[in-house]
Amino acid sequence: MRLGLDIGGTKIEAVVIDKTGEIIYRERRATPKQSYGDFFHAVTDMIAKAMQTVNQPLSVGIGGPGAVDSRGLIKNSNILVLNQQAFTRDLEQALGMPVPVTNDANCFTLSEAMDGSGCGHCVVFGVILGTGCGGGLCVDNRLISGPNTCAGEWGHNALPRYHESRDGEGVTCYCGQQNCIESFISGTGLERQYMNHTNYRAS
Ligand SMILES: [Zn+2]
Repeated sequence: MRLGLDIGGTKIEAVVIDKTGEIIYRERRATPKQSYGDFFHAVTDMIAKAMQTVNQPLSVGIGGPGAVDSRGLIKNSNILVLNQQAFTRDLEQALGMPVPVTNDANCFTLSEAMDGSGCGHCVVFGVILGTGCGGGLCVDNRLISGPNTCAGEWGHNALPRYHESRDGEGVTCYCGQQNCIESFISGTGLERQYMNHTNYRAS
């Protein structure tokens, strides 16, 4: 039995699958973002509840926003209270077992590479367009993390061949850089461009 938690900026979802991959348990709740303590409590509570309900040994794995740096601390998470926290270590101490934690786009990419639309391909690049613009990279069904644990994260590179007449006004990204890809093709970026375009047509 395997318990997986998908941690997002809006909600946390816990799912237990059996040996055949069948979902036998599911719980979803809002992500607490006020403090790390509240967030951590929600996660451990969801795990405890799943273990109690299923009443069988479970392995636990977690996908979430951001990355784990070389010191084991979370970085680049849009759940701000998670940044600079030793989330994996805290969780492993609380549960007394190893808990792999990785970026949610990495989980998605690995899943597609193993038995999804990337199945049978040597190199798989997974792209998520949500509030932001994430990505992951798999080679031979193994995730590539890179020296800064952000391989495949393409959203904060500059938009190639940006031109104001075609792409609209330049944008300063929340990361501090100019014209990041994420500023143009994330859900937020597409919405901004659409609104600019319709305002332009209406005037
Ligand atoms: Zn950026």
